Amino acid sequence: MEMLDLIRKKRDGGEHTPGELAWLVQGITSGRIPDYQAAAWCMAVYFQGMSPREVKSFTLEMAASGIQLDLSALPQPVIDKHSSGGVGDKTTLVLAPLIAAAGVPVCKMSGRGLGHTGGTIDKLESIPGFQVELSWEEFIRQAQAIGVALTAQSEELCPADKILYALRDVTGTVESIPLIAASIMSKKLAGGAGGFVLDIKVGNGAFMKDLEEAKTLAQLMVAIGKGAGKQTVAVLTNMDQPLGRAAGNALEVREAIAFLRGEAVPDLLEVTLALGAQMLKLAGAVAGLEEGREKLRRLLYSGRGLEVFAKWVAAQGGEPRVVEKPEMIPGAPVVRPVFSPGRGFVSGMATDLLGQVVADLGAGRKRKKDIIDPVVGLVFHKKPGDPVEPGEPLVEIHARTEEQALTAGQVVLQAIKVTEEPPSPKPLIYGYIV
Ligand code: URA
Repeated sequence: MEMLDLIRKKRDGGEHTPGELAWLVQGITSGRIPDYQAAAWCMAVYFQGMSPREVKSFTLEMAASGIQLDLSALPQPVIDKHSSGGVGDKTTLVLAPLIAAAGVPVCKMSGRGLGHTGGTIDKLESIPGFQVELSWEEFIRQAQAIGVALTAQSEELCPADKILYALRDVTGTVESIPLIAASIMSKKLAGGAGGFVLDIKVGNGAFMKDLEEAKTLAQLMVAIGKGAGKQTVAVLTNMDQPLGRAAGNALEVREAIAFLRGEAVPDLLEVTLALGAQMLKLAGAVAGLEEGREKLRRLLYSGRGLEVFAKWVAAQGGEPRVVEKPEMIPGAPVVRPVFSPGRGFVSGMATDLLGQVVADLGAGRKRKKDIIDPVVGLVFHKKPGDPVEPGEPLVEIHARTEEQALTAGQVVLQAIKVTEEPPSPKPLIYGYIV
């Protein structure tokens, strides 16, 4: 087989056989296929797409390109949750302890921030002492002992995806639905869970801006999961505004702790219950979604979720007293409000721009090796639909310097629209793909 023939076949709209895709993934993993040919093939896929059969074979081959976790030592099935990425999305921080408190083990690999979106690993690292690198033995042992373990995405998992993703990132081929679906699902499958709840974010703060596009991605990912014999459900959730009140690593951990103490912001609560109920149902821990939501509410308001969170932090070397004293998590030296320029209603938030402000304050990376600043970020006092008076604070900026706060404030004012009329409300959950 020659790579040139596969590139030509895809360029001309042909369908690859499973054997060709296996050969291609092995060649990428071993380095036999040079980057320029792999990148050319990605561009051909970008324009020609892939058939559902091709996506399935390609995903399974990528999942098998590295180690595949065996979670059989844990009570089955382990249900994993994946978010396609957004601003202020701290659902994993609150869901992991709540699901574990419901008796369903959480054994999860998470990523770091990407572009304007945050990552769970960066958030957890803002807790003093928290270790995000667990060996596989520690990972399984901790999940057995306390019901929850979370580690950074391993380099040994899906090496083919790692190589391809880096190429896609610099060749304008990230935005291909079959390549995104295969990239995410290969890592999920290699992670060893028995089922998946996929949170596909839609809106101006998400990678998918358009509902129809997001539905197509969700349908494809659900089909891949089910095709691999795993229970899979996707929830389409609104990302036209940051989720909850905080964006920025330490600020989001503080918000997660406040949530688990019962101070739950409505949108974060609703998304948490919607995803969590699906997880409990897939795990067979509840008969239906309403029972799942009720169980999660009980675990939240009884403080059980917070107890498990503290155990989880302690198990991974972190300071568990942060649950009583969230001020032990470092804060920013400069905190400045941004005031509303007029009277009316917050009618829109350019969420990607707000995410970029957070990243530019130092919470995100421009290059993979950049060191992030855990303390910086934004706290949103007002969300779409809220009435505002002139001079009322819209947002609080948490920055390292006055100069940074000033620059961030100017962009925040461009990103938040205040109008005389209230906006028409948008649903928080657009729908489910089952
Ligand atoms: N996240 C991934 O892991 N892969 C993609 O292709 C896009 C987002």
